Amino acid sequence: MPAAALSSIVLSFEDARRVVETHARSISTPLTELVDLLASGGRVLAEPIVADRDIPPFPRSTRDGYALRAADLSPLPATLAVIAEIKAGEAVEAIPASIAPGQSAAIMTGAPVPPGADAVVMVEYTSRIGSDVQVTKGVSPGENVVPRGAEATQGSTLLIPGTRLRESAIAVAASVGKSQLRAYIRPHVAVLTTGDEIVGLDQTPGPTQIRNSNSYSLALQIQRAGGEPILLPIAPDEPKQLRSLIEQGLAADLLLMTGGVSMGRYDLVEQVLSEMQAEFFFTGAKIQPGRPVVFGRCVAGQCGADTPVRERPATYFFGLPGNPVSTMVTFELFARPILEALAGQTPATLKFLHARLKSEIRVKPGLTRFLPAILSGEFENSEVELVAWQGSGDIAATARANCYAVIPPDRDRIPAGESISVMLP
Ligand code: AMP
Ligand code: MG
Repeated sequence: MPAAALSSIVLSFEDARRVVETHARSISTPLTELVDLLASGGRVLAEPIVADRDIPPFPRSTRDGYALRAADLSPLPATLAVIAEIKAGEAVEAIPASIAPGQSAAIMTGAPVPPGADAVVMVEYTSRIGSDVQVTKGVSPGENVVPRGAEATQGSTLLIPGTRLRESAIAVAASVGKSQLRAYIRPHVAVLTTGDEIVGLDQTPGPTQIRNSNSYSLALQIQRAGGEPILLPIAPDEPKQLRSLIEQGLAADLLLMTGGVSMGRYDLVEQVLSEMQAEFFFTGAKIQPGRPVVFGRCVAGQCGADTPVRERPATYFFGLPGNPVSTMVTFELFARPILEALAGQTPATLKFLHARLKSEIRVKPGLTRFLPAILSGEFENSEVELVAWQGSGDIAATARANCYAVIPPDRDRIPAGESISVMLP
């Protein structure tokens, strides 16, 4: 069949990423729902979390020891009267109204430091002699005490909407008594894998057929980025059926297609979308793997009369190259910010570490490369080495890797020992 004339927009990695980030910023936040705190891990917060009281609510001892006046500890050793014992959660009536000069109170970690005392000396530097304590080491005023309200004052905002709920954010929500939280609804992400050779896991592949792995790796990546994957049936390399499945996919909040975006005669994704009057922002990026990646959107009412775009003026789509490693990499580089924005999250920036290259790399310049690699060593001794692979179809090699080594487009040789950028998936 004659391919429609398609204009190609091939951008550098940075430019393509910028295009995606600009669109991500223009996406409005989704609807919200109430979720139990215990089920909220990984969700995106849709309400501010505010301190319901000062944190800590009392001057908190961070040690087991003696609350006292720092000025009483010179000269050393110093002997002070022990007038009380204060445990964590102590009844207010049992806390002395004041620690006078020459006095102290035995105190436990997490207990309130009584008025008059300005420091806690660790129990390790003391010996108890009847109702007195002998202290052998000085403390500065404020030592081992977190003042009331030092972490947050009542009414201050601790978490803002758009925050991804990791364990620390969940601890904050729990600390202010939120057993339920308002979170953004997870966007639906349609996954459409294409290719005459691709078969489902319920089928025995023929001698020239390949099992669908992309839908499954993508489903995990989508979940991790805050979306809910919806796997569509596998599309054959035939325009009518492909179009009908693309139309189904556009009813989701985001459509991710894999395969069918290269230059082959049966790579029909771009052609079908352009017949549907889709808008294309790029049709390639100067990267490896993943060069033929496509990013665009279908505006409601323009992309086929039947296209029910879900409560949005337009649905974004990505045509991810079919090679499994290309699919994984291009999702992380380009699809993730759009999905995060659709999920209500402030999109995260890409994070690069630096590590010392173990063995020399030689490549052709011109492309930014994200090559599966193994990061090892710790702290300042991080080392990275490419895995031996057969190219971007090599899932087994990629499964042995734990990161991507990033090679800038202007380098053709990087010697062993040089510090290079590493991207964690
Ligand atoms: P394409 O991008 O359609 O040219 O496909 C590139 C390569 O990726 C081909 O070797 C395909 O067989 C393979 N491929 C495409 N889709 C998938 C998939 N869903 N799972 C595994 N391999 C795939
Ligand atoms: Mg194909």
